[in-house]
Parts: sequence; C-alpha cells; structure tokens
Amino acid sequence: MLNFEFKNPTKIIFGKGEIQKLNNEIPKDVRVLILYGGGSIKTNGIYEQVLSALEGLQIEEFGGIPANPEYEVLLEALKVIKEKNINYLLAVGGGSVIDGTKFLAAAAMYEGDPWEILKKPVRIFEGMALPFSTVLTLPATGSEMNSGYVISRRGTGEKLSSGGPGLFPQVSVLDPEVVRSIPKKQIANGIADAYSHVLEQYMTYPTSATLQDRFSESIMQTLQEIAPKMLNEDFDYDVAGNFMWCCTMALNGLISKGVPTDWAVHAMGHELTAQFGIDHARTLAIIAPSHYRFNIESKKEKLAQYAERIWGITEGSEEEKAEKGIQKMETFFHSIGIPTRLSEYTTAYEGCAERIEKTFAERNWMLGEYRKLSPQDVKEIVQMSY
Ligand code: NAP
Ligand code: FE
Repeated sequence: MLNFEFKNPTKIIFGKGEIQKLNNEIPKDVRVLILYGGGSIKTNGIYEQVLSALEGLQIEEFGGIPANPEYEVLLEALKVIKEKNINYLLAVGGGSVIDGTKFLAAAAMYEGDPWEILKKPVRIFEGMALPFSTVLTLPATGSEMNSGYVISRRGTGEKLSSGGPGLFPQVSVLDPEVVRSIPKKQIANGIADAYSHVLEQYMTYPTSATLQDRFSESIMQTLQEIAPKMLNEDFDYDVAGNFMWCCTMALNGLISKGVPTDWAVHAMGHELTAQFGIDHARTLAIIAPSHYRFNIESKKEKLAQYAERIWGITEGSEEEKAEKGIQKMETFFHSIGIPTRLSEYTTAYEGCAERIEKTFAERNWMLGEYRKLSPQDVKEIVQMSY
C-alpha cells in the first residue's frame, strides 16, 4: 500500500427534509450568493426549501450555470460576488453548479487573471478561497464531498480540471427526495459517472490495498444492484438514498487512499465533451472499455479480479477473465441505456483522436497511474473507441 494522508473536512447532512438544517450551519453574519443551474430547482420545490432555510440571512442569487460549467458565465457570477461583497457561496445543483462554485470560491480571492487558476493550474490551499456549502440535487460526481472541479471554456474548446484542499465544501446536504424530479437519462449518467470514478481508482496496479479494493467493489456492486430499480421502477426513497450515497463515496477520497489512481479515462473523456458536447458520464463509457483493452497487460490482474469478484467469472486464464470483465463492463453500461462507441453519438468522429493527441502533446501530458501513456497511445485508445 502506498503512503497517504487523509483529511476530508466536509460535513454531510443526509436525509429527508434536512435542507432546513442549513439555517444552523451558515454563519449569521455573511452575505450569501446562492448559485444554481438552468431552473430545475424552481420547479421541483428545492428553491423554496433553500430560501426558507436561509431566512434571516443576507442573500443574493445567480442562476443559469449550464451543464459543463462555462467560464464566461462564471465570470458574470464573479462580477456579482465582487459588486455585492459576497463572502459565502451556496451551490444548489449537480456537479456543474458545485464545480462552478468551487472555481468562483477560488477566483473571488485570486489576484491575477482567473483563467490562470485552471491553466497553470493553481492549487488552492486552505484560506485561498471563499467558504461554501452545497445542496446536492443530482447524485453523480461526488463534487459535494471532494475538492476537485472541472470548467469548460467554449471560446478555446478547453475543458480543464483543478482543485486543492481549500476547496472542500463546508457542509453538503444530501436529501434523497431531490432524486424524484431527475430525468432517467441523468440518473443513468449519474450511475455511469460514479461507476467510472470507482474504476479509475480501482483498476490500477499493484493490487495490495485490500480494504480499498473491497470498498470499491461494494460501491460497484451496490450501483449494479440499484441501477435497474432506479431506472425501471417508481421512486423509492431508500433506493434513491443508496444511489446518492454511492455517488458521494465513489469520489470523496476514501477509496483512492494507498492506491495509485489513473484518471486517464476522465482526461480523454473531457476532450470528447469539449469537441462534441457529449455528456460527461457518456464520454467515460465510450473511453473506458478501450482504455482497459489497450492497457490489458498492465491491468490484467485487477481486471481479472473485477471479473471474478463482481461478475462471478471463474473460468479461463487471467487474460481471458480480464477480457470478459471488460465485456461485462460494456454490458452494464448498455443495460442502463448508455452506448459505448463514439460513432453512436456523432458521425463526425474522424480526426478526433488526432486532435486529442495534438492537444495532449502541446500540454506535455502523459496519462495513467504511472504517467506512461503518451499522446500517441491516447490517439490509439480514442481510435479504438470509434
Ligand atoms: P449537471 O451538469 O450538474 O446537471 C445535468 C442536468 O441535470 C442539468 O440540466 C440540471 O438542470 C439537471 N438537474 C440537476 N438536478 C436536477 C433535479 N433534482 N431534477 C431535475 N433535473 C436536475 O450534471 P452532473 O453530472 O452532476 O455534473 C457534470 C459535471 O461535473 C461535468 O462538467 C463533469 O466534468 C463534472 N465532474 C466533476 C467531478 C468532481 O469531482 N468535481 C467529477 C466528475 C465530473 P438545471 O440546470 O436546470 O438544474
Ligand atoms: Fe466524472
């Protein structure tokens, strides 16, 4: 097991009707900016619950943060923060609103050009960002309990991630009731994103972190168990609660401790969103199978373990089990209505791999848990996913 430090300061308040508790959590003397997306919170009752919880506090609001939060839109929110002397942020939304809020928390206290925070990138330590909390409305990213974020800039076609220990939310409220209004397509995305987060941390080598492996396997098994219930059956509070908690646990730091983490699938996936606007989770389902096939030699031990423990495949050599594990992974994505080939999303895929190769070469990026994947390798992986 690798050396590690573990500190996750985010307080989780989980359960039905708990949004009201924000009233005790946000200091009374702050000026709060409530940030939200395209309007779902105005139709499902979450907005009213937040306003009621914040009664008595000085509040402003900024709506309209789009999926894959846009740098240009966030700059408008930054203006409001400065003009209104805002000193506390409250994200009410999914990963896009929460990620946008993290960027704003850092940008509000950054002296230079805000884009530098992502481009350099600038790691944000404690005291370098405004305090913020979240009301999660869409289980998927884990952003409600981690310190990373991803921002898109349409003008330059970039989608970049950054973070740092100063960007953990103070409090995140997880009320499974919010799941009621989420369209099935977004539920499927949430399942695929959380599942991929586990894969990025689990499907690495060596395989000596036994407890983390079991944590990861239990999250994947729970997601597989609840997926058909979430997608085919009426709303069930407990199923929704388990879904929500899986998504948070998949990316709150716990399962990455003591293991080398990969994140190559996310790095490539971000480029597919930047080029084609494909939903984040779906880009991961496109890239993951090819990534694991391309790297089967180095990852076969863990892939075989995945096949055996998650899918009960006991027959065959290690290589055969590894390949069967990848096939099962594809079948799982298909079972939740997520295609795994780029050509199923766009007909304009020719040249995509070459563009990503060029971008990563310009950024000097090497990917994978040991930074061994070159831009040329990335090109081949993306081509395999067409
Ligand atoms: P999202 O982009 O936040 O939201 C997707 C859609 O779901 C929006 O159109 C939103 O509508 C709607 N929605 C949200 N809550 C809803 C509800 N309760 N009822 C009905 N509709 C609802 O989706 P996401 O998958 O959570 O976030 C994706 C972003 O997170 C990507 O940019 C991705 O790169 C990033 N990400 C971050 C991390 C991290 O650790 N920070 C990890 C993985 C991915 P409205 O806009 O109308 O609310
Ligand atoms: Fe993700």
